[in-house]
Amino acid sequence: MSDQTKKDTNLPCITAITPTLCKLMEIAPPALSDQHFLDEVVQTANRDGITNFEKCLVYAPDAVGLQMYKNFRSLFDTVLKPAPIAVPLCSVIPPITPVCFASMFTGAQPRVHGLQKKGKPVLTCDTIFDALIRAGKRVAIVSVKEQSMDLIFRKRKIQYFSEFDDQAVTHRTIEIIKSNNYDFIVAYHCEYDDILHEKTHYCTEAIQALSNDIAAFAQLADTMDVFWQRNNRVIVFAPDHGAHIDPESGKGTHGNNIPQDMHIQHYFGIKGGT
Ligand SMILES: [Zn+2]
Repeated sequence: MSDQTKKDTNLPCITAITPTLCKLMEIAPPALSDQHFLDEVVQTANRDGITNFEKCLVYAPDAVGLQMYKNFRSLFDTVLKPAPIAVPLCSVIPPITPVCFASMFTGAQPRVHGLQKKGKPVLTCDTIFDALIRAGKRVAIVSVKEQSMDLIFRKRKIQYFSEFDDQAVTHRTIEIIKSNNYDFIVAYHCEYDDILHEKTHYCTEAIQALSNDIAAFAQLADTMDVFWQRNNRVIVFAPDHGAHIDPESGKGTHGNNIPQDMHIQHYFGIKGGT
């Protein structure tokens, strides 16, 4: 086993997102959640003396793999500015959107939460959203209409915003940050994934979509800094999986247990309120 492979197989899993955010927000994690939070993130908060995070924004761009960071490094400077804690992570099997988001937001492996294949059923098990609601937090999910993020966490006391496209998601998210009516917001974008399936994950149009994702993230971070200035807050750039080229079609795809699909990176930014 090469050093690289050895290192990669030790990556923490995206299930760690739920216990990490629960730890920061000081709420009891959902029932099925893994207990292992990301040390690096929690230690940074401890070091900075920030506790009891009141506000959280999770920006979830579909299909942005770790390889994009490695190959288009300079684009990510704009992500690292508001969210400098970069944590390489391993996705879940199969690395497809509904399964990944189910794991990210339950803190559990697919065989535990039960969503293990294509399809967008409403998850009935306990999720971070249920845990947040129990703790009295106000939750919003802003997604492109009928995408997994829009559908699988339905039937909860969450405000669901189903938008026409990525741009509308960004506008809506900015509006609701400004409203100060929510404590935990997920904003989901899918254009990059759409393009990679039509072409490849690194074609010119895909890179433009990735740049749009990154610009949107920066805009959301800036809005938080103004309108949530007084709150202890965390922002996360949190993709679900990566992608590879299907040798038969020559187009982008994902769903295999291979590094291109499985390795991602999440970026955390934490700030204390004034
Ligand atoms: Zn996809």
